[in-house]
Amino acid sequence: MNVGAEILGIFQQRGSGAYFGERVSMSEHALQAAHFAQTAAAPPELVVAALLHDIGHLLEDVPDDIVDWVVDAHHEQIGSDWLARRFGPEVSEPVRLHVPAKRYLLTTNPEYFASLSPASVITLKLQGGPMAMHEVAKFESERFYREAVRVRHWDDLGKVQGLQTPGLSDYLALVETLAKQAPQLPAKRSGPAT
Ligand code: FE
Repeated sequence: MNVGAEILGIFQQRGSGAYFGERVSMSEHALQAAHFAQTAAAPPELVVAALLHDIGHLLEDVPDDIVDWVVDAHHEQIGSDWLARRFGPEVSEPVRLHVPAKRYLLTTNPEYFASLSPASVITLKLQGGPMAMHEVAKFESERFYREAVRVRHWDDLGKVQGLQTPGLSDYLALVETLAKQAPQLPAKRSGPAT
């Protein structure tokens, strides 16, 4: 199966589920994040990263109700491991870092907290809260940390009820182009996302 068909199948199976505590589905959230990336004229790898940043949530069973979500499932690691087997690090690394990027922005941008949705404030507690300064320095040493911050921004924006966007099929040619460029090697873990 090619990667596009694989992704389509995953979204068809689980994408209609609610995006934790928000008024959009998982599929709508993904499409909105990709749409905002395109609007920002992001490079193709980053558009695909935005589209697939939460694929870890679709690859595993997670509770429907956010109040039942008592453990951080580390969806960013599950998703980036999956992506690293199909794409280059330009796609998988911003995904791995998109949760740390939230913790990073809380420490480095005083206005960021006010921009978070109530559900995102709840998950923040499970994700470890704002970064300590030594974590900020470590995060900034990541090759793709700026890209991760951009994906985070589109992730935060992608919660608009009823927003019209291009559909998943509109991205499949791009997905295939990028997947073919990536070496088909087993994923390498780059260490825990802290
Ligand atoms: Fe998200």
